[in-house]
Amino acid sequence: MKIIILGPPGSGKGTQSNLLMKKYNIPTISSGEALRNMILQKTQLSLLIEKKIQKGKLVDDNIITNLVIQEIQKKNVNHFILDGFPRTIQQVKSMEEKNISIDHVIELKLTKKIIYERILGRRIHKKSGRTYHIKYFPPKIPEQDDITQEKLTTRIDDNLKTINQRLLEYKQVQNVICTYYKNQMKKKKIKYIKINAELKIQEIFSKIENFIIKKQ
Ligand code: AMP
Repeated sequence: MKIIILGPPGSGKGTQSNLLMKKYNIPTISSGEALRNMILQKTQLSLLIEKKIQKGKLVDDNIITNLVIQEIQKKNVNHFILDGFPRTIQQVKSMEEKNISIDHVIELKLTKKIIYERILGRRIHKKSGRTYHIKYFPPKIPEQDDITQEKLTTRIDDNLKTINQRLLEYKQVQNVICTYYKNQMKKKKIKYIKINAELKIQEIFSKIENFIIKKQ
């Protein structure tokens, strides 16, 4: 199974990818996560990437494409979930050039109001990647990681100004990428589903499971 999860920031792409990964043992490749790991290396390139992410702008196609395609090839598997990639038509084309085909596309959809609430309430434990939400999944002690009791932080791009830019960038993804894959679905090349991402995590996951096990 080769799955793409599309959705605006805060739609739960990472959460659903992790659930799929745990249940079906399918590796997830998250472009955002790969970039955030790259930033930790503090190279000249990673500083440029950090600036882009901080502004909510897309990272250059060639950088992200090389990173993701390398990850796919490194994993050498027939099953994977792509979280956050592709985001431009050039990224789609690069995958096709490398004969990386997709069979399932999941689009998560939700309103702006919920997006803001989800992102602005998100807290992370930087070292482990553990994620919390001040309202929906609060830590036992406010602003502290449950395991290490270290202080929680926010992602560098989880602020109002950057969210607005990320939403603008996503609008383009939605127009171009979703239309592209919907056309692929019409030609019966892939399966495509749009899911209401305002539902509870488990409800969304059930819909995804039904979708991937259903015959075409
Ligand atoms: P995400 O974790 O998917 O929300 O991504 C965080 C940020 O990383 C985005 O706002 C972009 O700046 C960058 N990014 C992630 N994936 C891509 C991609 N496929 N193409 C370009 N930039 C990306």
